Amino acid sequence: MTDQQTEKKQGVLSSNVVMSGIRPTGMLHLGNYFGAIRNYVRMQEQYECYFMVADLHSLTTHPDTSLLKEHVKRVLAENIACGLDPDKATFYCQSHVRETGELYLYLNMLAYKGELEKTVTFKDKARLHPENVNAGLLTYPVLQTADIIIHRAGLVPVGKDQEQHLEMARNFVQRFNHRYGQIFPEPHAFNFNEALVKVPGLDGSGKMSKSENNMSTLYFADDDDTIRKKVMKAKTDAGPTEPNSPMPDYIENIFLLMHLVSEEGVIKKYQEDYNNCSIRYGDLKKQLAEDMVKFIAPIRQKADDILANDKYLVETMQKGAARASESAQKTMKLVREAIGLNYF
Ligand code: ADP
Repeated sequence: MTDQQTEKKQGVLSSNVVMSGIRPTGMLHLGNYFGAIRNYVRMQEQYECYFMVADLHSLTTHPDTSLLKEHVKRVLAENIACGLDPDKATFYCQSHVRETGELYLYLNMLAYKGELEKTVTFKDKARLHPENVNAGLLTYPVLQTADIIIHRAGLVPVGKDQEQHLEMARNFVQRFNHRYGQIFPEPHAFNFNEALVKVPGLDGSGKMSKSENNMSTLYFADDDDTIRKKVMKAKTDAGPTEPNSPMPDYIENIFLLMHLVSEEGVIKKYQEDYNNCSIRYGDLKKQLAEDMVKFIAPIRQKADDILANDKYLVETMQKGAARASESAQKTMKLVREAIGLNYF
């Protein structure tokens, strides 16, 4: 890492190196795009970037690995189809960087059971799968911290659901630096100075997600008719009866989705129709469905072409693994020395 990339401000290291990842637990969706991938594509132009397919993280909730290879390749292909360029960013598979496991072990000694048990994502996942509350699930934020700081990264483009994990990562980094010396910059969630994004589900509640509710999530792999069907099923009601009424959550969500893919003029027209009580939700959803098809179809087609080229995907993974491992090895040398594990 050069001096330009890492600087020391009032005793705290900061870094312009970028790191983020996506779990291969299913097909990518609009939430992954607007929460994370869109920023990967913008950031790769200006920063040193590391992006990974988080295959080890997926084992915490998906112990059955029969679909893992297929999902890893799909996540690679879909990211590239969205514009991630493996020649500009280092794009790799988490399990190919063995050093992360070692750093995870050291960080586990600095993470406390009480704080891990209080993590919202841990509590949610434990509630959903009470039969598999494993230690990997509990220490997920520790492994995530290791993934980020193995490249001494400071900027982490993620969606809103990851905010708490980044706060925990800063705590682990502070403890490490306090005990062993200033090695790691503090990582921060990044969205170009704007609020972190949460793309809501089409059912008006929760967020779009890979594995939870197929009908309320728009996937890049969805064909045009499936996209139309899902959007037309989005929850609406009889419409406002008073001018300028506040919007119910589920209608606000439809407008929020429109802001992601529709033209400003079109959104303005429907907003005016809402305010003067002339809105027809059937038309609104038809418009949204067509704009979604226009946005998703080219990405789906590109991803399918990339998926058909296995040789390219394997070479991409190998190239990414070599570059990411080199960066990880440099960091681990500093870490072992700082801890005092350099006996000769
Ligand atoms: P998922 O929740 O679909 O399994 P991951 O946990 O693999 O996704 O997260 C990958 C990235 O996508 C993270 O940066 C996460 O914040 C972002 N992300 C996932 N779902 C959404 C959403 N609905 N809105 C915004 N960002 C999201």
